[in-house]
Amino acid sequence: MKYIRPKGTRDISPPESFKKSWVEEIFRKTVGKYGFCEIFTPIFEHTELFLRSTGESTDIVTKQMYTFTDQAQRSLTLRPEGTPGVVRAIIENSIKIPARFFYIGPMYRYERPQKGRYREFYQLGIEVIGEASPEIDTEVIEIGYQFFISLGIQNCSIEINSVGCPECRPKFRYELLDFLADKKDQICYDCKIRLEKNPLRVFDCKKETCQKIYQSAPKVRNSLCRDCANHFTAVTIGLNERNIKYTINDRMVRGLDYYTKTAFEYISSKLGAQDSLGGGGRYDNLVEELGGPKTPAIGFALGEDRIILVAEPSKTIIQPKLIAIIYLSKKELAYSKELATELRKAEIPVYLNYELKKLRTQLSYADALKASHAIIIGEDEIAKRVLTLRDMASGEQQTIARNEIVKKLTDL
Ligand code: AMP
Repeated sequence: MKYIRPKGTRDISPPESFKKSWVEEIFRKTVGKYGFCEIFTPIFEHTELFLRSTGESTDIVTKQMYTFTDQAQRSLTLRPEGTPGVVRAIIENSIKIPARFFYIGPMYRYERPQKGRYREFYQLGIEVIGEASPEIDTEVIEIGYQFFISLGIQNCSIEINSVGCPECRPKFRYELLDFLADKKDQICYDCKIRLEKNPLRVFDCKKETCQKIYQSAPKVRNSLCRDCANHFTAVTIGLNERNIKYTINDRMVRGLDYYTKTAFEYISSKLGAQDSLGGGGRYDNLVEELGGPKTPAIGFALGEDRIILVAEPSKTIIQPKLIAIIYLSKKELAYSKELATELRKAEIPVYLNYELKKLRTQLSYADALKASHAIIIGEDEIAKRVLTLRDMASGEQQTIARNEIVKKLTDL
């Protein structure tokens, strides 16, 4: 029997895995500068958590969840997103508020796989719990922006909108229903259901025919209450002050039910159909909704797989320094082991194979291990107190004095 991975999942091996670690390192550094600490929550949670938070009318909950029953007949779900677990953890563990957390990890959604869209995918997220100021909204948007700059991602634009709050949204809901009243037979089946459960969700529809109709729909921004309108204006002023360019997208409501006020998205022109690099928004009612005290909050989730597709790291990231020591006969093994110990002491990663093979075979092993350089040691090298250093990519070789090798490799 041939075993293959489940549809929509991927195996991530070098050089992509090097890129992934690099992206995560830059993310940790970036969010660390703003005081975020890492949080780990379970990959699966009680299904009820997502029904209550992500929302029963969202595509995620209606179509995409990996839900299963465990041996004690509990309904559990592989997390489709990170925020509900983090909020649950904060409430359950009575974590002091304000809190700033970040997470990195896999999420699961039953979607139709294509480039940039998988059933198992990774997200990098942050959550700011307990801060209401619009300044934080701009800071959160800035963090994602800074992160993309640090990765060398150039073509990233920012779209923002306000989705209002429970006070002003009913008014908009009414206006939207009124607008769609005579268009029900022109919209798709899914949108008809959205209309019944949560009309705002119609804007999530990917069908062109539906989107055309919604182009002339009323804008949620025009129905905002004074508090939401002032908040939105303050966010735009904050972004201007921080020199962050953005566009207002009145149709962007984001695919989750818990958002209030600010919603935003990072878009890459390099990605094609799946062009969203990530997004987020304010969720001022979720903590209370899940049984905690009334607590304002905001966060984002970025799609790591898509970031890896567009980020362009330097060559040293894709091929980190690894030195393969190659010896030509058993006599040079002890000398090679000593050298390996010395290099590792100097923090230089070394690969040494203990089964003597022909030079050509050892070079092909070095290649398979993604070594950046090889040191070749024969009788001659030992006698002359030198080493032959080979660049694995170009095949160029040079002779280095034995006592200068640590410096040479450190400087590479
Ligand atoms: P969301 O949690 O839906 O707001 O998504 C946030 C980001 O996660 C998106 O902008 C994508 O970059 C990424 N993402 C969402 N779903 C997938 C998926 N199925 N495959 C890969 N990336 C995804």
